Amino acid sequence: MKVKQNAFDWPKHLRLLVNKECNYQCSFPGTKCEWCHKDGIHVNSQVKSADISDFLFLAQTLKEPFKLEKLKIGAMEPTLFSGVETIVSEAKKMKFDEVSLTSNGYLLANKLAVLEEAGLDTLTVSMHAFNPEVYRSVTGIDGFERVKNTVEKASQMNFKTVKINRVLLNFDNIWEDLMAFFKWAAKFGIRIKLYQLIWSKEMDSKLYFDNFVSWKALHLYFKNNGELIETNKFLVPGRERMVWRMKDGLEIETDVFYHKLSEGTGKVCQNCPEVANCQEGLMSYGLEVNPELTMAGCLLRDDLIVDLWSTVKERNKQGLVDKVNGFLKGIV
Ligand code: SF4
Ligand code: SF4
Repeated sequence: MKVKQNAFDWPKHLRLLVNKECNYQCSFPGTKCEWCHKDGIHVNSQVKSADISDFLFLAQTLKEPFKLEKLKIGAMEPTLFSGVETIVSEAKKMKFDEVSLTSNGYLLANKLAVLEEAGLDTLTVSMHAFNPEVYRSVTGIDGFERVKNTVEKASQMNFKTVKINRVLLNFDNIWEDLMAFFKWAAKFGIRIKLYQLIWSKEMDSKLYFDNFVSWKALHLYFKNNGELIETNKFLVPGRERMVWRMKDGLEIETDVFYHKLSEGTGKVCQNCPEVANCQEGLMSYGLEVNPELTMAGCLLRDDLIVDLWSTVKERNKQGLVDKVNGFLKGIV
């Protein structure tokens, strides 16, 4: 099969991080040291929380000017945000090509029906181990069977895609864990996305070293049991997303971030003091707005942010477009 190859400047996605709460504390297995890097909510410590109408104003106002195709709802844990299904249904009315939600799955069972009814296209659940004990050790919650059952149920519903996000962590019998995980996902038609562990400033160096495992170590397995079907290159973040299809039909996505001095990466990256340490990329997953209505450029640079709070609260459409445009022009 010919590999489908696409190149984009960056993902035309709006990612709404709707809250700062999570019922899990994802840690390195066997330790209580957290690796969750609290993506998107690390930049601002003020106690402000946007509401549903703020998020909808953002989506409605930014969609056309920035040619946004997908609306992604994330957070720490969006099932703890009351009325998340309203964002889904309203975003569908705005004609986003895809509306997705990412959750740890623990509180999802009771929300499946309303999310389906609201028109959610893609449901993504995080599962970082396929063994109940390791799952508990990573998340701090004895929730493996409950989450697995919820995902199986969701796979029988009308969502277009049900997906599992897994950050690869190194623990005993990881190979057996992955093989059981792949087999289960293939059986239920679930897509998998594998992430590599990204360091954050608070992490202990030894714990990072002990727990890091690259999906590239699975390359030979992919090659012998499937094929690469698609590559998507995002130039500004310096990110390449690959899709592999296994012989049993299972599709697995992997991400690579290449060096930020490559041609095409964001201009702010070209002179960045963090460039040698950067494992992610600028606007890696599109425009990302947190509950304090701050938009951030990347994980490591707390100075690359723009505060949209007053502009959104005043419902100032042109002001919002101008602010986001100005921010992008300064960094991209
Ligand atoms: S479930 Fe997600 S947001 Fe919550 S602690 Fe784990 S990685 Fe962080
Ligand atoms: S830390 Fe941010 S600005 Fe610096 S190279 Fe990485 S993505 Fe670019």
